[in-house]
Order: sequence, then C-alpha cells, then structure tokens
Amino acid sequence: MDNDIFLKIIAREVPADIVYEDEHCIAFHDIAPKAPTHVLVIPKRKTPKLSDFTPDKDPDVMHAFSKIPHVAKILGLEDFRVILNNGEGACQTVFHIHFHILGGKRLAWQPD
Ligand code: AMP
Repeated sequence: MDNDIFLKIIAREVPADIVYEDEHCIAFHDIAPKAPTHVLVIPKRKTPKLSDFTPDKDPDVMHAFSKIPHVAKILGLEDFRVILNNGEGACQTVFHIHFHILGGKRLAWQPD
C-alpha cells in the first residue's frame, strides 16, 4: 500500500486546510509552516520527485506549477517564493512532487 500522505489528503483520508482544488491539483496549508504563509501545491497524479518528471507523462505537474500564481492570489500574496526540494539530500521528505509557496513577510535571499 502507498503510504503517501498527500494521496491520503487528496482522498480526504487525512484532513488538510485546503485553499484550492481542481481536477488535477490541490493546494493546502503546510502543517509545519516555515513562513507566515506556507502552502503546498500538489499534482493529483503522483510523480515522486522532479528527477522522475517528464512533461509527456506528468501533465499534472505542469498543471500544478501553472496554478501557483492563482493560488498566491487566493492567499493575497503579491511577493512570494516557490521551492521544490528534490531528493533526501535537498530535504525532500514526502516523495510526491510538491511546490512550496512561502510568503507573508519580507523574505531574505539566504534560506533561514
Ligand atoms: P518536503 O520536505 O519538501 O518534502 O516537504 C514536505 C512538506 O510536507 C513539509 O513542509 C511538511 O511540513 C509537509 N507536510 C507533511 N505532512 C503534512 C500534512 N499532513 N499536512 C500538511 N503538510 C504536511
């Protein structure tokens, strides 16, 4: 069985504070926010990491990325940062591609 927490959120088996959803992606608040606003945008069809991604096979990843400005607008963010951690060595902990949107304060360029 796939233990992917994000698939469980999509299936409503685990609760989440959802801010946007459509047929191909979902966005919800991160449970351990690293900025005043920290939302994850996730393709519904699972691709484990960016290294596995191919545009032809993974259109939901492209779709999720394309929805980031819309989600930021819903959140009232004019300025924000987008992060994708690829692989354990880059602090990826959930192996289902996700875009972090961080904002709600003036962000330093150096990660905290
Ligand atoms: P990453 O470290 O890039 O793989 O990011 C995974 C993110 O998922 C982390 O920022 C976690 O805080 C977040 N996360 C894990 N479980 C949940 C959950 N149940 N609801 C919301 N966010 C979660």
